[in-house]
Amino acid sequence: MKDSYLGVDVSPLTYEGIIEDLRGRVARSEQSTIIAVNPEKVMAAQKDPQVKQLINASTYQIADGVGILLASKVKGGTVTSRVTGVDMMARLLAFAEEDQHPVFFYGAKEEVVTKAIEEIKKTHPNIPVAGYSNGYEKDEAALVERIRESGARILFVALGSPKQELWMKRNMRALQNVLVFQGVGGSFDVFSGTVKRAPAPFRKLGIEWLYRLASNPSRIKRQLQLPVFLVKVLRSQK
Ligand code: UDP
Repeated sequence: MKDSYLGVDVSPLTYEGIIEDLRGRVARSEQSTIIAVNPEKVMAAQKDPQVKQLINASTYQIADGVGILLASKVKGGTVTSRVTGVDMMARLLAFAEEDQHPVFFYGAKEEVVTKAIEEIKKTHPNIPVAGYSNGYEKDEAALVERIRESGARILFVALGSPKQELWMKRNMRALQNVLVFQGVGGSFDVFSGTVKRAPAPFRKLGIEWLYRLASNPSRIKRQLQLPVFLVKVLRSQK
């Protein structure tokens, strides 16, 4: 069973739960999609039914960010821990290496995606890399063909939201070889070392947002969605 916040589904599964579930789905050749949910996206979904539909139609909606966790606490929901996009990607990389599933990396700037792969290979020397593309490729049909021919079974799409979710929806059917799709936003920037993650104490306390705000004050507009979201959730029936 999934939680629902303002009509947006969130999966209560942990990293391990998702990987275990995915193993079964991959063995049955069922396609799966992973999408990160945060207050900003839930608020966007209020204004755009297509965004809501996109999120709810995916296999796993992960609770990326402390906002969803707080909402679950106040509403007595079943989401008990965060599942961040970047850590989910890390788990999938380990899964890919372990079960030898070829991975394709699509998104971010050329130097970012290539550096991310270089760094990933240092920690996962046996990971099968099917290929990559930067996120500014104009010829979508040619790219889809390239991903198909690469034989990739796991695809990370790093274009930001909702661009990456729309891309996955448009191209899933043509990419039957891909069994796991994850929209990973700025995660290639993190793996490449271009963007630093918040120091451990911030992460432990669940206040990465504070660190990000301090290092990039222009995020205030995005972050102000959090209190608005919480007030709305508190007022909502379910
Ligand atoms: N990006 C891209 N193509 C585009 C627009 C964005 O590859 O047309 C990349 C951009 O280089 C960055 C990522 O998408 O690596 C966006 O990250 P952001 O942190 O904005 O995404 P979020 O996680 O907030 O959705």
